[in-house]
Amino acid sequence: MNYTLPISPGSSRRLRWLLALPKLGIVLLLAALLSLLWLLHRTEAEEERSALIKDVLWLEQNLRFHLNGNEEQFQQLALEMADRPDRQKIFRLRAEHMLKNSPDIAQILWLDAGQQVVDALPTASLQEGQAGALAPPLTAKAFELVSRLGKRQYSEPFFLDDHRAFVALLIPIYRERQVAGMLAVTYPLDTLLANQVPWWFTEKYKVEIVDDNDVRYATKTNIEGNSDLRHVIPFDPPGGGLLLRVTSYRSPDNTLQRLLVVAIFLLAAGVFWSLWLVRDLMKKRSHAEDALRAEHAFRTAMEDSLTVGMRARDLKGKVIYVNPAFCRMTGFSAEELMNQAPPMPYWAPEQLQETFAMHQTVLAGQAPLDGFEITFMRKNGERFHALVYEAKLIDGNGNHTGWMASVVDITERKRAEELARQQQEQLQFTSRLVTMGEMASTLAHELNQPLAAIASYNTGCLNLLNGGQTSPQEILPALEKIGLQAQRAGKIIRRVHDFVRKSEPKRAPCAVGEVIEDCLGFVEAEARKRHIRIDCDLPPLPPVPADRLMLEQVLLNLIRNGMEAMTATPEAERALHIAVEINDSELLVSVGDQGSGIAPEVRAKLFTAFFTTKPEGMGIGLSICRSIIEFHRGRLWAEDNPQSPSGSGTIFRFTLPLEAA
Ligand code: ADP
Repeated sequence: MNYTLPISPGSSRRLRWLLALPKLGIVLLLAALLSLLWLLHRTEAEEERSALIKDVLWLEQNLRFHLNGNEEQFQQLALEMADRPDRQKIFRLRAEHMLKNSPDIAQILWLDAGQQVVDALPTASLQEGQAGALAPPLTAKAFELVSRLGKRQYSEPFFLDDHRAFVALLIPIYRERQVAGMLAVTYPLDTLLANQVPWWFTEKYKVEIVDDNDVRYATKTNIEGNSDLRHVIPFDPPGGGLLLRVTSYRSPDNTLQRLLVVAIFLLAAGVFWSLWLVRDLMKKRSHAEDALRAEHAFRTAMEDSLTVGMRARDLKGKVIYVNPAFCRMTGFSAEELMNQAPPMPYWAPEQLQETFAMHQTVLAGQAPLDGFEITFMRKNGERFHALVYEAKLIDGNGNHTGWMASVVDITERKRAEELARQQQEQLQFTSRLVTMGEMASTLAHELNQPLAAIASYNTGCLNLLNGGQTSPQEILPALEKIGLQAQRAGKIIRRVHDFVRKSEPKRAPCAVGEVIEDCLGFVEAEARKRHIRIDCDLPPLPPVPADRLMLEQVLLNLIRNGMEAMTATPEAERALHIAVEINDSELLVSVGDQGSGIAPEVRAKLFTAFFTTKPEGMGIGLSICRSIIEFHRGRLWAEDNPQSPSGSGTIFRFTLPLEAA
C-alpha cells in the first residue's frame, strides 16, 4: 500500500502563521471598531454641543426679543407720559395692558424725579408686594445712573425677602429735556424663565441665570443632574454681569454606547477564546499528525527492513498489499502484484490446482494455524519453497477485511535440512560400516566354521569316492551337510550384505523379536569370544512400524556397547539381558549389562556426537541411535542397572510406538 500522508513537515510552521492571521485580523478589527466608536462619540458630542449652542443662542435671542419688545413699549409709554396731561390715566391703562400681556412682569412703578412712587401696578405698595418691589437702595443707584446716562437701563439683579431674584428696567420720563420721572419695570428672573423658556427646551436642558461668581438667580429645569455639556453666554439686555447657563441633561457617553463597547469587548473576547480553542485543537492535530508521521515512517522502515514477506488480500482474494521483502522474494514489483486476483503470477503452473485449493482453504478461514508449505515461482521462473502463515486482517473497527500472510522463503532451509538428512544417513551408513569393520574378524572366524566343515565333508566325500566302494547312501548325508553348511555361510554373508547395504529409510511392519534374533546371530561369535552370556526375554509381540535395518543398527550398537562395558567384569558375571515389554501404546526394549556403569560426567555427554571414552571408539554410535529412535517417534535413555551383582551396570532403554503417527 503506497500512500503518502497529506502533511508536509513545514505544515506546523504554516499552521502557526495561519493561526496568527485571524488574531491579527481581530486585533485590527477591534481597533477599527473602537476608533469608529470614538469618532462617533466625538461627532455626537460635537453635534450635541453645536445643537446646544444653537439652542442657547435661540433662547437668548428669544429672551432678548421679548425684553426688547417690552422695552420699546415702555419707552413709548414714557414718551407719551412726558407730553400728555392725562398721564395718570395713560399709565394705568397701558401698564395694565402690559401686565396682562407679559405675565413675567412683576410690577410697573411710576416714580417722580424725587424717586417717589407716583403710581404702581399691580400694587402701590413697594415693600409689601408679594410679587416683589424695587429695593430703595438699588432703585436709587439705578435711578441716578439712568438720570445721568439719560437712557433706559436695567438695574443689577437683587434678591428680595423670599430669595427671589429680580431685575428692574428703568426708563426715564423726560419733560422739557429734564428727567421728570422714571418708569421701573421689575422682572422676577424665575418667572421670566418660566414664561419665556418653552417646555421642550427644559426637556433637554437646564436653564440657569447666574453671575460671574456663580450665584444662581433663577433656574428652570425638569431634572436635576450634572453634565459637562453646558454653554454659557452673557445675558443681555438685562446685563449687569448676568450669564445664561444652559446644561444638557444627556450625558455624552450614554448607556447604549457603553453597552455597545462592552458587547464589542465581550464578542472580541469570545472570538479570542474560540480562536484559542481552535489553536489548541490545531496544536493537538499537529501533534497527532507528527506522531502519525513518525509512526508511518517507523512502520515503513519496519516493513522495508522485514525479511519476512507480507501479503494482504481482501475477502475475495485480491492482493491489497505486499511488502518489499515479498517483492524481492517473488521478483515481481508491488505495482505488478497489487490488485491481482487468482491465479497469482507467482503461482507455479504445475501446482496450480493444489495452490488454488489452498487459496480456497485460506479464504474459507481454514488455513492451518501452524502454517503450510507451498511452492511458489519467481518472476524468472525459478521455484522456491515458502512457509506461509495466514491470519485474519482486522481493521480498526474490528471488522474482518481480508487475510494477512507472512511468507518465509524456506528453500535454503529445506536444502540445508535435506543436506543434513543426507549427511545423517551417510553417517549412519558409515557407522554401520564401522560396526561391520569392527566385527569383521569375528565374522571371518564365524564364516571359517561352515567353510571348514564344508571342506572336511568334501574331503570325506572325496576319500569315499576315491576308495571306489562307496554307495550314494554313504555320500548323501555328507553332501546334505555340505549344503547346510553352505547355506549357513551364505546366510552370514547375506546378513553382512544386508547390514551394510545403503538404502533409504522406510518404515514397514516389522517383528522386533526377529530383529533381535538376527542381531544375536551377528554378535553370538563375539559374545562367545568375550565369554558373555546373552539371555533374551521375548513375549509374543505385535509388529511395529519401523525400518528393520535401522532398528538392527540400534540394537547392535547397544549390545556391543554393553559387551565392551563388561571387559573388566568377572567372567562369571558377564551377562547381557535383552527384554521387550508392551507398555500402553508402545514397545519398551531394554538392553542391560553388568559392566562398568556410566560416570556422571560421561552421562551428560553420552549422546553427544563424537564423544567416546574408548581409545578406538568413534563416539557416534549413541548419537545415531537416538536420532534413529526419534525418527521412529520413540525415546532412548540410559539408566543404572539395579540388578547388577557388581553394583554397577547400565540399562539402555528405548521405546517404539505401536502405531505409526
Ligand atoms: P563409542 O562406542 O564409539 O565410544 P558410543 O556413542 O556408542 O561410541 O558410546 C559413547 C560412550 O558412551 C562410550 O565411549 C562409553 O564411554 C559410553 N557407553 C556407551 N554404552 C555404555 C555402557 N553400556 N556402559 C558404560 N558406558 C557406555
